[in-house]
Amino acid sequence: MSTIYTGPVFEMAKNQFTSVADYLEIPHNQRDRLLYPKRAITISCPIHMDNGETAVFQGYRVQHHLTLGPTKGGTRFAPNVDIGEVSALAIWMSWKCALAGLPYGGAKGGVTVDTHTLSKRELESLSRRYMQEMIPFVGPHIDVMAPDMGTNEQVMAWFMDTYSMYQGHTVNEIVTGKPVSSGGTQGRREATGLGVAHLIARAMQRLKMDPRQQTAIIQGFGNVGSYAAIELAQQGVKIIGVSDHTACYFDPKGFDVAALVAHASTHGALKGYSSEAAFDPAELLVQKCDILVPAAVERVIDAGVADKLQCRILAEAANGPTTPDADAMLDQRRSEIFVIPDILCNSGGVIVSYFEWVQDLQQLFWRRAEVLDRLRDLLDDAFERVMSRVEKDNISHRVAAMAIGVDKVAQAKATRGLFP
Ligand code: NAD
Repeated sequence: MSTIYTGPVFEMAKNQFTSVADYLEIPHNQRDRLLYPKRAITISCPIHMDNGETAVFQGYRVQHHLTLGPTKGGTRFAPNVDIGEVSALAIWMSWKCALAGLPYGGAKGGVTVDTHTLSKRELESLSRRYMQEMIPFVGPHIDVMAPDMGTNEQVMAWFMDTYSMYQGHTVNEIVTGKPVSSGGTQGRREATGLGVAHLIARAMQRLKMDPRQQTAIIQGFGNVGSYAAIELAQQGVKIIGVSDHTACYFDPKGFDVAALVAHASTHGALKGYSSEAAFDPAELLVQKCDILVPAAVERVIDAGVADKLQCRILAEAANGPTTPDADAMLDQRRSEIFVIPDILCNSGGVIVSYFEWVQDLQQLFWRRAEVLDRLRDLLDDAFERVMSRVEKDNISHRVAAMAIGVDKVAQAKATRGLFP
């Protein structure tokens, strides 16, 4: 069946769902209700450019299901964003929130734009116009946005301000991932990367790997990749490879993570950090390392790459980095490669976003240590539940994680019934 969502990323989310639905023995006549998004909104955002012309950007928001509460999900500003990609990301958010035990359905939004080509003023106009177009469809108890690739705390502050101006009063709880000065929470900025590193530590514990003897390669050095690198380095792991969209470096002797972070923050990217360590980005993921962290875009590990991976732990910090073909290959290599699937691995972001929403609703703010303790608590709980299911049913880590999420949504739909 061809729909507006049809495309490679949606097909990937659909294939994964079908494997899990088969495993859970969900009747075929109940599957479409679980898979297809409740709402998909497409908008045109016209803005004044600095050169005096008017440019129009296409924007999207997909709300996957409303069964457990409001929908929740990031907003991506990137050149290849389309409705199929956004819907797949919304579906993954649903299983992720359900796995973590959060009272949300999944959502995702995006604008097809290369933010590197915009001035700060143009980015602000686009952010504000996007939120303004979305006002009829979002709300603190309907759909709550957050950052994703190409958006950040500043964009969230503009979203919040735009929504608040239309309401006539400040509505902090309309978005998460805001600056702490504007109703954001302590710990949100680093939550996803910190969560990734925490789960890697749990996996190392299980596999009896001493962090101080391990090496890691990280693809993507934005919010998630850079904080994952900082946290792993603090655990004693040697970072031997890093890349972003401008540069790729590999050095078995290891990098000074603080210097990489400082360079990326001063220059906006990794380009220009080193000429000696420059490396072919197409070869980075298949280099020998103990921990591989894809933290950039989806579908970077296909069957060919999966066959050549030389890591012991694959920590999927990005959403959807592994194609279903690659999954089949990883399934055969289950005893060699310990996969921390994306909906578990990067769930630290939405968990702390949930804490931010709760704090905003209550206007009662927590200390950083409290935020991070609660984060680790929920991550440990989800990790253990995934591992128990793997052991009980001898299934892959991804199927186990998704099954817990899908099962929870399916049960909630079954008990609520079908209206009218
Ligand atoms: P970001 O925009 O801060 O950083 C993205 C990074 O990826 C940048 O360094 C960019 O240069 C790099 N990149 C882009 N294309 C690349 C390519 N082809 N090869 C190598 N590097 C490339 O985004 P982010 O927030 O760090 O998100 C990264 C991933 O993590 C995305 O898949 C996102 O959906 C996922 N994620 C983010 C959060 C969050 O809280 N930010 C939460 C959950 C999941």
